[in-house]
Amino acid sequence: MTLDFFYDVIIGGGGNAALVAAITACERNKKVLLLTKDPYEQRGGHTRYTECFIFAHDEGWHGLKGYSESEYLSDIKKASKGANLELAEYVVKNSRKAADFVETHGIRWQEDYLLRQGGSYFKQKISKQIRLEIVGGGTGLVNHYYHYLENLNKEKGSCKVLYDAEIVKINVENKRFKSVEVIIKKSDKKTFYGNNLILATGGFESNFELLKKIFGNKFDYLIFRGEKMNTGLPLFEMIKNGAATVGKLTDLETHPIVDARMPKVDGGVCARARCIPYSIVVNKNVERIFDEGNYAGGLTEVTYTKLLLEQPEGRAYAIFDSSSLGKLGKRQASPFIEDYTIEGLAKKINIDPDKLLKVINDFNLSIKVQGGYTVGIDPPKSRNAFPIVNPPFYACPLAPGFSFTRYGLKVDKTSRVLTEKGDPFENIFAAGTIMVGNILSEDQYLDCLGLLNGTVFGMTAGENI
Ligand SMILES: Cc1cc2nc3c(=O)[nH]c(=O)nc-3n(C[C@H](O)[C@H](O)[C@H](O)COP(=O)(O)OP(=O)(O)OC[C@H]3O[C@@H](n4cnc5c(N)ncnc54)[C@H](O)[C@@H]3O)c2cc1C
Repeated sequence: MTLDFFYDVIIGGGGNAALVAAITACERNKKVLLLTKDPYEQRGGHTRYTECFIFAHDEGWHGLKGYSESEYLSDIKKASKGANLELAEYVVKNSRKAADFVETHGIRWQEDYLLRQGGSYFKQKISKQIRLEIVGGGTGLVNHYYHYLENLNKEKGSCKVLYDAEIVKINVENKRFKSVEVIIKKSDKKTFYGNNLILATGGFESNFELLKKIFGNKFDYLIFRGEKMNTGLPLFEMIKNGAATVGKLTDLETHPIVDARMPKVDGGVCARARCIPYSIVVNKNVERIFDEGNYAGGLTEVTYTKLLLEQPEGRAYAIFDSSSLGKLGKRQASPFIEDYTIEGLAKKINIDPDKLLKVINDFNLSIKVQGGYTVGIDPPKSRNAFPIVNPPFYACPLAPGFSFTRYGLKVDKTSRVLTEKGDPFENIFAAGTIMVGNILSEDQYLDCLGLLNGTVFGMTAGENI
């Protein structure tokens, strides 16, 4: 064994959680090896697609509306009834420390975003928002962190990054990590030894073979917003080694509704269908399926995405007119399907024109206050009820999207992975999506908890090695 193959800590993964763990370990003078399946050009895992953080904070911090630790915890409890409350509390209590970590390692926030939401970064007017959008999005975040690791000064530890490096086997003896077997560039097999292992390799969201087995034909309806790397190999390796798990294999983060014309994978953020609150949504049988005005935020988005999954062929259409077009903002990437008549539009999207005319008529007649709500139709539209009368008319085909899996490794507050018996592996840690099921259980979602969870447990793992 040469010295080059032995490290203080080996970290699996190259997204937010892995990078935070690597930086924390290096700042404690450790010799780190970071193994990521991502090629250099696409480094950053699913984190590349992210946009926002939500931290607990005081009113006015960065011009935001206040969001206390107790509010955060109460929102986690609402979204995730089976959450391990001790760990949820741990994440929230460390939220300010996480914000400090993110900012001191170069991440900045989009001022435009705050302005758009009615706040002002400079004038210190309070926005209605509690979230912060990263300058450059998730790609900006990971590049800052990689840059930091590439430029560590001599007083700090060292971090060697191997791209295109897939962990295929984890060797454990008597609850102690020994080594990982890795395939580099799909051909070269190597074994690396270390005193500690931190796993931040995501869930199994890109393992379409397994997901198809779990969800059957319904899986064909779903569109995945992330990339193809996270097949869950390290997660299943640890289960073979006796690790305890959290959540169910079926705990898929089905959210949000996306533009159905997106490819099956790699839709990213722009796949999100942002026109729904200004539309009516009909399925292939031209039936409305939910209250479109209420489609906003993590909780309702998850519920509605699941409803869409149950529709014929898992598809629906958002329909609106030219007066609503201007209200949508600029954040949906695809052009809409357009026609000067409702009949023409219905033909273009292959649904019954007479039925569509009737649904639109009933909807228009039920609006009591323009831009308000409807009365006497089911489902109602509780907000943004604008009549569909002004040509051209528009349609956007909709599909249920999904973002990540939650079945993962059970951990304790030190970020150590637990065995089936409940005691921890001595030197094996997990952070990020691979353990998010400890905090986010069942099927609801809390916006932006993913990055915070990865940052807190990434720091914790790096501190505890
Ligand atoms: C489109 C989209 C938008 C999102 N937006 C947000 C947002 O705004 N805010 C938020 O908080 N969350 C968001 N999320 C959720 C987000 O994915 C997580 O919060 C976060 O990025 C997860 O980070 P991670 O480090 O755990 O995993 P990832 O970033 O997915 O990193 C996993 C890493 O593991 C590597 N890997 C996988 N298998 C192996 C292996 N066998 N060997 C070696 N390496 C391996 C991968 O190559 C990758 O580098 C979004 C998700 C998607 C899909």
